[in-house]
Amino acid sequence: MPVYEYKCQACGRRTNVRMSYNEYDHTNPRCTNCDSGSLERIISKVRIARSEDSRLDSLSDPSSLSGVDENDPRSVGKFMRHMGNEMGEEMGPEFDEMVDRLEAGENPESIEADMPSLSEGATGPVP
Ligand SMILES: [Zn+2]
Repeated sequence: MPVYEYKCQACGRRTNVRMSYNEYDHTNPRCTNCDSGSLERIISKVRIARSEDSRLDSLSDPSSLSGVDENDPRSVGKFMRHMGNEMGEEMGPEFDEMVDRLEAGENPESIEADMPSLSEGATGPVP
């Protein structure tokens, strides 16, 4: 079950909430510190260690694409894990789970169908 990270708007503490994707749509998590319901989901786009330029350079590096077989979920999963590392940022539990499932050989389409939050673009690839 994935862990979602929230920041409490009342006391400023971070709270990790463990729940299923199904629960995520229906649950209003509360702060474990002060029991406030004013939690803001942390989608860690701010921890980009490198500049945009060097990031784009590494993404366009042809060697990083070598050996990826788009028809092989394991190969795609391995590539995505590599990309996640290259981005230098926390991609979130959905990304991690998707990579895990790809590496286990699961069909990407069935994974996406299982994980509606992926289509919201919150953790999607940069256009
Ligand atoms: Zn709080």
